[in-house]
This record gives sequence, structure tokens and C-alpha cells, in this order.
Amino acid sequence: MTISLPASTLSSRRAPLADPREQLARLEASTAGRASFQETLRAAGWPDLTPASLEIFQINLGKLCNMTCRHCHVDAGPDRSDAMMTREMVDACLRALDQTPAHTVDITGGAPELHPEFRYLADAAHARGKHVIDRCNLSVLLLPRNAGLAEWLADREVEVVASLPHYRQRSTDAQRGDGAFEKSIAALRLLNTVGYGHGNPRRILSLMTNPAGAFLAAPQSSAESEWKTALHRDFGITFDRLLALNNMPISRFLEWLIESDNLDSYMSRLIDGFNPVAVSGVMCRNTLSVSWDGRLFDCDFNQMLDLDAETAVGTMTIESFDFEQWQKRSVVTRTHCFGCTAGAGSSCGGSTT
Ligand code: SF4
Ligand code: SF4
Repeated sequence: MTISLPASTLSSRRAPLADPREQLARLEASTAGRASFQETLRAAGWPDLTPASLEIFQINLGKLCNMTCRHCHVDAGPDRSDAMMTREMVDACLRALDQTPAHTVDITGGAPELHPEFRYLADAAHARGKHVIDRCNLSVLLLPRNAGLAEWLADREVEVVASLPHYRQRSTDAQRGDGAFEKSIAALRLLNTVGYGHGNPRRILSLMTNPAGAFLAAPQSSAESEWKTALHRDFGITFDRLLALNNMPISRFLEWLIESDNLDSYMSRLIDGFNPVAVSGVMCRNTLSVSWDGRLFDCDFNQMLDLDAETAVGTMTIESFDFEQWQKRSVVTRTHCFGCTAGAGSSCGGSTT
């Protein structure tokens, strides 16, 4: 069974799953009797999941998005202007960034380009010599308010990591709604026109794919050549690299798993697919994740589940950020973490092996 029907946000429907505690309870119930993620890690020689050097400073500007994809782990949508980072909080992020050795600022959402501070943040990070990533849903580049944005990003050498579920229309529209694929193709052409996706390290265009159902991501390197051939053959589009991501069993994808009666089998697939080699590259080890309201998390998934990072000095916010203490924490893990260690591993940077 593949994902179908774009959703409205859990939040707008006041669905019980809008509460992260309900999501965690459903995940725990579906995996009762199995070894926990912590136990599985320990058996694999990881008594604790500890940070490696901090490389990526990921800032989630908020949940506002022009789309309402069925698989969204953020519960983003057009009605989510309730969750938007303020300029003051952006400045606090920049002050914290200056304490760290992170070489990359990863800007995400929602659709971060809809946020009024997006260009301010990208500019400030670029001026600091950071590699800047824009996690882009493609269609947002076609909105009249974003005219000229593709060129603006190119001028600042921002890497565009564009989500595109599949190079075939059916699978993409099933997750994102009718017409989403066509808009994605138009936006990719625009990016190609301004210099993205032709092998220039200053204009990197990465595509991010996720499965259209309750199965694991396809092997990244073989999928990349298949995608490159298909998009060039069918649309004349080129891109630099493909990142393959497992769907995380949280938020609207969790809702779909429950409604389609796939939750137990998907969780078994993630647990049975545990790959000890994938552990060292999970993104919580080299990433700091900041939410729109300035809370700090080990990763974007923990952020969506309200699992705040735990440090020796308690819960830290971006305003009280202390890099030394941050690096001494242990990562907070729960059942959903099996999504990062199944198969070839999965992260915002694609497979971890
Ligand atoms: S484009 Fe991304 S953030 Fe927006 S609804 Fe889709 S998956 Fe969520
Ligand atoms: S979900 Fe987050 S905390 Fe858990 S393994 Fe993945 S990156 Fe780490």
C-alpha cells in the first residue's frame, strides 16, 4: 500500500496525534515486547549515544508551509503560522553559532523560505563563512512572493536540498497533492537555469527522496544513478546528489501508518533492519537542532516529539547555550530512533553508511 491523500494538519483537526506524548505512546505500544532502542544500542557496543564533533547547526524557523504533505514529520502546513521564530531568537541562534565550530548552517521548517527572517539568517550565516543549506520543497520557489529567490540563493552559494519523493509523478503527487510534481519540475528547471545542479560546488542541488509507503529507503547510490538518468531523459534536469531518507514514524506519517494498519509491520521492519554500522553516523551525533521557540534538541525528529536535549546543567535554550556543556550530553533516544539505524541508516544528510 502506498501513501495516498494529502492531509490537513493534525493541529488544525485537533487530532490526538498532534500531541507528541500520544505519538510516543503509540510507538511504545506497537513495539511492546521488543528490545528497546537503548537496549539494542548497548548490545551493539554503544552504552550511550554521545556527541562527536559538532558540524551542523540546524535551525528550524517554524512550521509554516505552502504544502500539506501526507508524510510530513513536522505537521507543517499553511495554517501553522502559530510556530514562527522571532528576529530576537534568530539573533540568539547566531550568537550561539559563534560559540561553535559548526561549518554548516542548515535552515529548515516548514518551508523556511516563507519565513520573514529567512534571508536575514541565510545572509548572516553566509557572511560568517558557513556553508548554508536551504531545505526546500521546490514549489515554494514558484510563489510570486519568492520571485528572484533562486538567483538570490545562487549568489550566496546556498546549497539547495530539495525534497522530491520520487521522479515519477504518481508517487510524488500521492504524498504531496495533485500538481506537486509538475511544480517541482518547473522549480528544478529554474534552479538549473541559475546554475544549480551542474557539478559546481558553489551551486549544489541535492535531491532528497523518501519511500512512498511503509518500506525502507532504496540504496542511495544505485537510486542516484537511476534518478539522474530518469530526470535527464524525461525533463532535461540535472542535479548533483541524491539523499535517501527513511520515513520517520512520527506526526502525519505515523497517522498514515495507523490508518493503513501498517504501524506494527513498519516498526518491525525498522527494528529487524537495525544496522550497527549505521549508528556512528546518526545525525544527533554531529548536529544541534534549534526549534522556532529557541529550545534545543538532539535532532529535528526529537524536536517534533518534544524530547528536549538533556545536559548536565539541565535543559538549555538557545539563549542560555553553552557549547562545552552541550558537547557533554548524552543523546535522548526512543523507539522512533530505529528509523535512523535501519538498513543503510538515515539522516538529513541521507544514508549514514
Ligand atoms: S513540504 Fe516538507 S515541511 Fe512542507 S508539508 Fe511537505 S514535508 Fe512538511
Ligand atoms: S531520531 Fe534523532 S536522536 Fe534518534 S537516532 Fe535519529 S538522529 Fe539520533
